[in-house]
Amino acid sequence: MKRIGVLTSGGDAPGMNAAIRSVTRAAIYNNLDVIGFRRGYEGLLEGDGIPLTVSSVGGIIHRGGTILRTARCDRFTTPEGVREGFQRLKAYDIDALVVIGGDGSFRGAYELHKLGFPVVGIPGTIDNDMAGTDCTIGFDTACNTALQCIQKLRDTASSHERLFIVEVMGRAAGFLALEAAVAAGAECVLVPEQPFDIEQLCKKLHYAKERGKTHSLIIVAEGVMPASELAHKLKDTASYDARIIVLGHIQRGGSPSSFDAVLASRLGGGAIEALLRGEYGTMVGRTSGKIVTNPIQVAWEEKKGLDADMMTLVDILGI
Ligand code: ADP
Repeated sequence: MKRIGVLTSGGDAPGMNAAIRSVTRAAIYNNLDVIGFRRGYEGLLEGDGIPLTVSSVGGIIHRGGTILRTARCDRFTTPEGVREGFQRLKAYDIDALVVIGGDGSFRGAYELHKLGFPVVGIPGTIDNDMAGTDCTIGFDTACNTALQCIQKLRDTASSHERLFIVEVMGRAAGFLALEAAVAAGAECVLVPEQPFDIEQLCKKLHYAKERGKTHSLIIVAEGVMPASELAHKLKDTASYDARIIVLGHIQRGGSPSSFDAVLASRLGGGAIEALLRGEYGTMVGRTSGKIVTNPIQVAWEEKKGLDADMMTLVDILGI
């Protein structure tokens, strides 16, 4: 193996730059050249590759987003698109590709692997909805960003004795909502993985009020319903007057936390080690503190469930 490619794809996540830096420097340490493709699979198909060097990945470990930029590429979801990508990689004399992204990006990498091209995936998404790793790159930072926003809201909620609904990211997964809810001491959390009953929610808020609570916080993952719709339902069901806040893309930005910068650095190094060991078609992850590899399809074939004890904890602590 002489030369590897690296790209970031799908939704950006804080820590992706730290992963690019780590992949590049670990590869160069092992006498491998590195080509970075801009804008994910889109840039691969367009031949938008640039050499990455020790110095070109300097000064980026602390930066949010991704210097390689990211994109979604419909063409790559077709067999012709994947074959074209394969040819591009060959034309660049690239022996293996490191893909940093979510499970969609891993599916693309898996298609290349099925054609016989060596790939390794590094899980990067704020959603944390990938099996094969306890945490994805960006999740911890997004939780901290959400927490900081919610803590500011809590000040107003308590001063003005208000009910706030905070909508956080998570179309199909409630990891971010749940983590933020526990950390912020929210009274209720609504996640896509669990059905919810508006009557029950109103009862809970009512009991809390009866016990003397003057303000409450509800965290809702965007996949459950928009915060505005939930506010309407609360109004219609029990005349609750809730203020809403949608955190939106702010959750994807910012410098990575120390946890994410370390995770990204370890996974970047782990990806190169996996390639050198010939473990192709795999993903690297961190499980119980150790860097591990798994077949890349584990990321979406296995379901990473929400911690049921954490869900119960929100109810216990939110009384
Ligand atoms: P994420 O990686 O964050 O989950 P997406 O699901 O949008 O983001 O996927 C990112 C890109 O990965 C897509 O735009 C597409 O180019 C590629 N991709 C997703 N699914 C497949 C697939 N089944 N086959 C090939 N490429 C795919």
